Amino acid sequence: MQKTLFSKIIDREIPAQIVHEDSDVIVIKDINPVAPIHYLIIPKTVVKDMKDPGFDARMAAIMVKTVQYLAAQLPGDQAFNIIANNGVAAGQSVMHLHWHFISGRNIHENGFLR
Ligand code: 5GP
Repeated sequence: MQKTLFSKIIDREIPAQIVHEDSDVIVIKDINPVAPIHYLIIPKTVVKDMKDPGFDARMAAIMVKTVQYLAAQLPGDQAFNIIANNGVAAGQSVMHLHWHFISGRNIHENGFLR
């Protein structure tokens, strides 16, 4: 099977700005940010999307723990969004599950994402 773009980033075949990494996930800065903070939380195990049976309770817990870790780094109680595009029609362009962690942009002043 061909490697996904994010697997190539995990394997250091393509450069990215890495924000956090452990044995289960990598967090990188989105190359085309929609807000001052726009990270991608990517599991190292490849699953396509949240409908994929490989997206199990353990992986879900790892993703949520990573969200909480990143949120704890924000100043004060700065707000943030989590976006998960599942399927091409929903805007998913990389078929390797990832959650967008977005912060620092006021939705009420700037409208919703993109
Ligand atoms: P999706 O559209 O699948 O929900 O999100 C994919 C995201 O990956 C997009 O926001 C896009 O800007 C980002 N992206 C695409 N190619 C690269 C890349 O080579 N490096 C990084 N850091 N982000 C990328």
